[in-house]
Amino acid sequence: MNILILGSGGREHALAWAVKQNPKCDRLIVAPGNAGITQIAECAEIDILDGAAVVALCAEQAIDFLVVGPEAPLAAGVADAARAAGILTFGPSALAAQLEASKAFTKAICDACGAPTAAWARFTEAAPARDHVTAKGAPIVIKADGLAAGKGVVVAMTLEEALAAIDDMFGGSLGAAGAEVVIEEFMAGEEASFFVLTDGVNALPIGTAQDHKRAYDGDKGPNTGGMGAYSPAPVLTQALQDQAMAEIVLPTIREMAAQGMPYQGVLYAGLMIQNGRARLVEYNARFGDPECQVLMMRLGGQILDLLLATAEGRLDQARVSWAEDHALTVVMAARGYPGDYAKGSVIKGLEALPEDSRHIVFHAGTKAHDGLVTANGGRVLNVTARGESLAEAREMAYRMVEGIDWAEGFCRKDIGWRALSADNA
Ligand code: ATP
Repeated sequence: MNILILGSGGREHALAWAVKQNPKCDRLIVAPGNAGITQIAECAEIDILDGAAVVALCAEQAIDFLVVGPEAPLAAGVADAARAAGILTFGPSALAAQLEASKAFTKAICDACGAPTAAWARFTEAAPARDHVTAKGAPIVIKADGLAAGKGVVVAMTLEEALAAIDDMFGGSLGAAGAEVVIEEFMAGEEASFFVLTDGVNALPIGTAQDHKRAYDGDKGPNTGGMGAYSPAPVLTQALQDQAMAEIVLPTIREMAAQGMPYQGVLYAGLMIQNGRARLVEYNARFGDPECQVLMMRLGGQILDLLLATAEGRLDQARVSWAEDHALTVVMAARGYPGDYAKGSVIKGLEALPEDSRHIVFHAGTKAHDGLVTANGGRVLNVTARGESLAEAREMAYRMVEGIDWAEGFCRKDIGWRALSADNA
């Protein structure tokens, strides 16, 4: 079958790498792709937010199955456009993708189905929002309602910080995303990610992961898109996964269907674990990046069968077969990220690294020209390894990092510390 994946990050390289291993995949196109993806798939330059352009590419290339990677095309209705054109598509409709695109929407769904999450209130003006946080006190969490690429959330430890965040958001710092603000109770605990495929009715958990959002070692420095991840997440025990399915994920799926917005795709639940219970922090409507890299490393080619079962509405018949192993990815970023950074530096040493089912460097912001790989973004490489234990996966990943000759890049040296310092690593 001919498959088109939309996106250009490490997530899409990992998806492409795994899908390609399945014998059902005859031809694989990724739009727009990156330098790493060009080594395993054809790449097509189109505007992936333009549903008509995606449908035209599918027709031109006789695509049998479309997989939408990032959230922006989902929120823009690209999956709807493709399905309306009769293309088998993995990914939620724009209405269902509001579970990621609008925090107030998600909170209202949680309330309607009783899913445990932080207490919340929504505001469209600064004055009542300021009164609310003054009454509640800090710590408290201030969120822009819309998509803000991870920049729309302020976990305010003091009242001053909370008030400043409200003024900033209503002052227009995030544009339309901040026109409405959600204020939440602060939840203490440990965060983990839970990934569930759903066809709108049936649901199948496909793994757990934890990521590291801060730029520097010891979880210090500014927030980023993610500096590394590992799977499984030991904190998400089977009992917690069962609780999250029963109390959060399944009620959400039923509620979405009942409200006429059945959710089809991957539902990525960000959970906060405290005192042996999981509460929902947020939903994302797509795989995490870099969590997808470690999930794909462990799932391999079966992911294509699972994505197809999701899109075709037959997840009740699908099963996941798990190797009892661990995967870890280290993100290499351009110096300066997540602030200003330079593009164009040359990355050497990649061709000498091992590349097999246990070692792979997924590319994120890279570009290939004149036979060279150059940095073309903030997060640039995802150095990923799989081992019998998390400690082994980490050692293998960092050994690969040492083989990469890129003075203009940096990475965290402590990916996995939380799980490795726990007894169950
Ligand atoms: P991202 O795209 O980075 O996942 P986002 O903009 O979608 O972020 P959230 O995931 O809702 O926003 O929040 C970002 C982070 O803020 C969470 O991962 C969590 O660490 C923290 N956070 C959010 N809500 C709360 C809360 N109620 N209590 C404590 N921490 C929270």
